[in-house]
Amino acid sequence: FGGIVKEPPMHIVHIAVEMAPIAKVGGLGDVVTSLSRAVQDLNHNVNIILPKYDCLNLSHVKDLHYQKSYSWGGTEIKVWFGKVEGLSVYFLEPQNGFVWTGCVYGCKNDAERFGFFCHAALEFLHQGGLQPDIIHCHDWSSAPVAWLFKDHYMHYGLSKTRVVFTIHNLEFGAHFIGKAMAYADKATTVSHTYSKEVAGNPAVAPHLHKFHGILNGIDLDIWDPYNDKFIPVPYTSENVVEGKRAAKEALQQRLGLKKSDHPLVGIISRLTHQKGIHLIKHAIWNTLKRNGQVVLLGSAPDPRIQNDFVNLANQLHSSHSDQARLCLTYDEPLSHLVCTLKIYAGADFILVPSIFEPCGLTQLTAMRYGSIPVVRKTGGLYDTVFDVDDDKARAEAQGLEPNGFNFDGADGAGVDYALNRAISAWYDGRDWFNSLCKRVMEQDWSWNRPALDYMELYHAAKKY
Ligand code: ADP
Repeated sequence: FGGIVKEPPMHIVHIAVEMAPIAKVGGLGDVVTSLSRAVQDLNHNVNIILPKYDCLNLSHVKDLHYQKSYSWGGTEIKVWFGKVEGLSVYFLEPQNGFVWTGCVYGCKNDAERFGFFCHAALEFLHQGGLQPDIIHCHDWSSAPVAWLFKDHYMHYGLSKTRVVFTIHNLEFGAHFIGKAMAYADKATTVSHTYSKEVAGNPAVAPHLHKFHGILNGIDLDIWDPYNDKFIPVPYTSENVVEGKRAAKEALQQRLGLKKSDHPLVGIISRLTHQKGIHLIKHAIWNTLKRNGQVVLLGSAPDPRIQNDFVNLANQLHSSHSDQARLCLTYDEPLSHLVCTLKIYAGADFILVPSIFEPCGLTQLTAMRYGSIPVVRKTGGLYDTVFDVDDDKARAEAQGLEPNGFNFDGADGAGVDYALNRAISAWYDGRDWFNSLCKRVMEQDWSWNRPALDYMELYHAAKKY
């Protein structure tokens, strides 16, 4: 891209089916919120159009009110407006029941529901006379925006609008994604390495000239160990040792683990093949063997995998009740029982042994809380975690110091290689380990840099 020039504010509209914290399933929901906030902080105008699910977490929506209705697609669509994390959100509620399903994903007709939503969102822009500079759509679920816009709306009052499409995970709906790649003016994915890993995929390969890897960031205000009511002793890198000690004790107490000074490995993950389930299991047993503690917060969309973990939990909770706790739910932000951030703060290590990982947010959030990432070298994990033993030069090339432990391979020996060194470092060199915690907290994995990259991309799209 060219250099940054001071230009008038842009108007960017995200059309998305997830948004943290009110309708979050995975990283896509985090990114819609945190990227929007970062771009808004650069003085641009950002709106989000989201389905008004019946399962929205409305306690995080401020000033929600009904605005108007319009007819489209054989039904009435109610438009609601509210503020979420300081962002202006339009909620569309078609009266045909498409968003009254008690879930974001998981219906047989998801593709039809989301296709309808995408079309309704464009119709909403069109009928309201809104002419954003950029419409930004995400993954297969709002991919239809790209071609519906070009086929139906571009010529009707939205001619100055350009479409940007982001692939958060190519595993889902590659067919839709290929079509959106063809129609979008610019496309991105969420890390440089993942962009190279998927470059040969038929959905992506023909479109490399307009395809860029831009790393996700995390929102430093939303994830802040110094400013969070769930953290017993607020901390920054200055008092990270004290802060994390208190957080660990609170976590142990909350979960009924032995209050002991042993290395604690945290895992926060969807439990799917992508996340390296067999490596997660292997690492749990290895950690216990090395006298460490393990806390896992995870949920499996596949009932067979969920069952498998329920069995493992039963086994561990009786054989290692002092050492292991598996919470097989999705953290309910309001239940405060096993809040993700208590794990981020209370753990010494966060393990992310994914088989593939487009960007990964858990390792970034872990570092924000002074927890050391232990990851498999793939996608965004490769781009953000630099091994203290093996990656000094690679880190230096990025202007960084090494910040964690990583491994190749996809078997037990691989994950052992990283985890054993991590646990040994904890046992053998606490001063060094503490300085590593301080170091990772001071690294910048925020949106500061990536938001500028997106702005350049948006400007480039306008010239496209
Ligand atoms: P993905 O989008 O593939 O699930 P990411 O690492 O990009 O993976 O994002 C995962 C996000 O979901 C993180 O913010 C993580 O904290 C959160 N998360 C994962 N599993 C759970 C869970 N069981 N409960 C609460 N939050 C979770």
